[in-house]
Amino acid sequence: MSDVCCEKNETIKGILLPRCYFCGQVPDEGIRGGVIIKKAFICRQCEIQIVDLQIGSPVYEIVIKKIKKLFSKV
Ligand SMILES: [Zn+2]
Repeated sequence: MSDVCCEKNETIKGILLPRCYFCGQVPDEGIRGGVIIKKAFICRQCEIQIVDLQIGSPVYEIVIKKIKKLFSKV
């Protein structure tokens, strides 16, 4: 067995790398780097942004539109 030092890389290679629904980025941690809502992946950074969102800000409008679209897709 020579793969002891590469255990982390093996894990990353073995998992599906999801693309964030909001920013389009693929986190290094893969699926563990965010949450899945209605089959859409949201990375941790966007999750934090959404939680921190100020009602009435321009970003808020964009996020609400995207979330509405997400839930109407079911
Ligand atoms: Zn994101």
